[in-house]
Amino acid sequence: MICKDCGRPAPSNMQGYCQACYLYFVREKKVIYPTPSYGEITYAPNGDCICPFCGKAFRKLGAHFWNFHHILSKNAKELAGWDHTVKASNIDYRAHMHFIQQQKCIDINLIVKGKPTRRKIGHHLKKYVSEMSRLRLTKQISKEELK
Ligand SMILES: [Zn+2]
Ligand SMILES: [Zn+2]
Repeated sequence: MICKDCGRPAPSNMQGYCQACYLYFVREKKVIYPTPSYGEITYAPNGDCICPFCGKAFRKLGAHFWNFHHILSKNAKELAGWDHTVKASNIDYRAHMHFIQQQKCIDINLIVKGKPTRRKIGHHLKKYVSEMSRLRLTKQISKEELK
């Protein structure tokens, strides 16, 4: 038998699922979510991080990337357009959002208080800017220009 979700071998006593899918769909009663667009990170209502490749949500997405898609977290983040610093797991979710909140304050203060030294679009100090950062910065800059 073959798993009706992922096509891996499925034991006959698991309602047509492989072990991993049985756990996911039947035991934990989870669903498949719409996958986020490039550079976006999304979370299930319970705070689990949604896989940008298959739409399943996990507490520890890094482990899922490796076990299921056979790629390292680092490569997965690049493929998804995420920052390298993003913690793709539920436990870190709040801490991560707190970090973003702080980042925002720092950025806004820099922009408002330090107008003469304000960075211009495309003049980044960092070598690598992920799609996530690019979206965030674009949003901030356009907000600033509306004022
Ligand atoms: Zn499966
Ligand atoms: Zn996945």
